[in-house]
Amino acid sequence: MGDGTVRPAWAEIDLGALSRNTAKLVALVSPAALCAVVKADGYGHGAVRCASAALAGGAAGLAVALVEEGIELREAGITAPVLVLSEPPYDALDTAVAGGLTPTLYSEGGVVRTAAAARALGRRVPVHLKVDTGMHRVGADPSEVGDLARAVSAEPMLTLEGVWTHLAVADGSASKDAEFTELQLDRLGDAVSALEQSGATPALVHAANSAAAIAYPASRMDMVRCGITLYGELPGDARVIELPESIGTLEPVMSLHAKVASVRELRAGDRVSYGLLRPLPTDAFVATIPIGYADGVPRKLFEAGFQVLIGGRRYPIAGTITMDQLMVDCGGGPPPTPGDDVVLLGRQLDEEITAREWADLLGTISYEILCGIGRRVPRVYLGGPGPDRDVTTAPPIAQDRLFRWN
Ligand SMILES: *Cc1c(COP(=O)(O)O)cnc(C)c1O
Repeated sequence: MGDGTVRPAWAEIDLGALSRNTAKLVALVSPAALCAVVKADGYGHGAVRCASAALAGGAAGLAVALVEEGIELREAGITAPVLVLSEPPYDALDTAVAGGLTPTLYSEGGVVRTAAAARALGRRVPVHLKVDTGMHRVGADPSEVGDLARAVSAEPMLTLEGVWTHLAVADGSASKDAEFTELQLDRLGDAVSALEQSGATPALVHAANSAAAIAYPASRMDMVRCGITLYGELPGDARVIELPESIGTLEPVMSLHAKVASVRELRAGDRVSYGLLRPLPTDAFVATIPIGYADGVPRKLFEAGFQVLIGGRRYPIAGTITMDQLMVDCGGGPPPTPGDDVVLLGRQLDEEITAREWADLLGTISYEILCGIGRRVPRVYLGGPGPDRDVTTAPPIAQDRLFRWN
């Protein structure tokens, strides 16, 4: 391919689609701002490129899970606000402050350490306090938020920019889920009112993830934090949360491709791959595809009845998915040819395979599928600025590190 990547298996990332998805969500939630969540390498799509595309689509800022993820954005030259979604370990707060990240805090120690880092660098640092309103993962108890806010205001180098929470069942369908979401929003509202009475007025109160931003307009407040929807998948497990018709549909951003490596003609009853688990129901052309579970195509997809697209048609997996390759039962024909395009995720002619289809087969959610596409699958970027391919150039191999065969 002339640019250092030769592997005939790759993921295409449509940055134009990501910008358009962002713009639709920005329109939906306005006047609330949209914070684009690009944690976990942009849900597997590439954090830096996706961050730029989301900002181009109107996102007001970015959010990450780890300080390291925020630093990656800064090193790429991204200057937008970057919120770290959990309180960093105390030892990471210096790095967070030096990188101009906005930490989320929920402990007195976190406030003290952030303030010390801010003083040392002579820099005013905006912070967000997180309230645990019922998810019970991270955050301060509502009863502790007043003291934390006082600790923040006592530090001249800190600004209380935001107060926020995270919703546990915004993508749920049961009526008790709606009740619980409302309870969480009430608890956040009470905590914010108490702060305001004591003179603290955070500029950004926020609670909504993608599901809440769509399904609970009251949760949008000053800002929503959207992840999965930017990448073109709707949240929801038991139920798919739908966008209002006025907004239209979202476009999947990632598609997963490979080329047929080889084809063999086998007889009905022949069995393919480890364990020889499945007799071919008919005489068949079986295509070998150079992508496997080390690339994020889970082994369980075989027994779940996964199909891939070749020539615009769906074909089942012929046997156990291996680490680097899988075999496809193309039936009696038309016979595939080495080099034919295979789509594992995305569209080919009239057929489409979505991350949700994988997720439904595996009993999980599309987030896990997208984040799971392996690092060794090259990302090919369509649209947006920058090079089309994410090429990491390996350092030259020292001669004495080569295997010697004689
Ligand atoms: C991951 C995450 C989000 C984004 O959730 P989506 O469902 O992908 O929109 C928002 N807020 C927090 C705290 C998160 O961890």
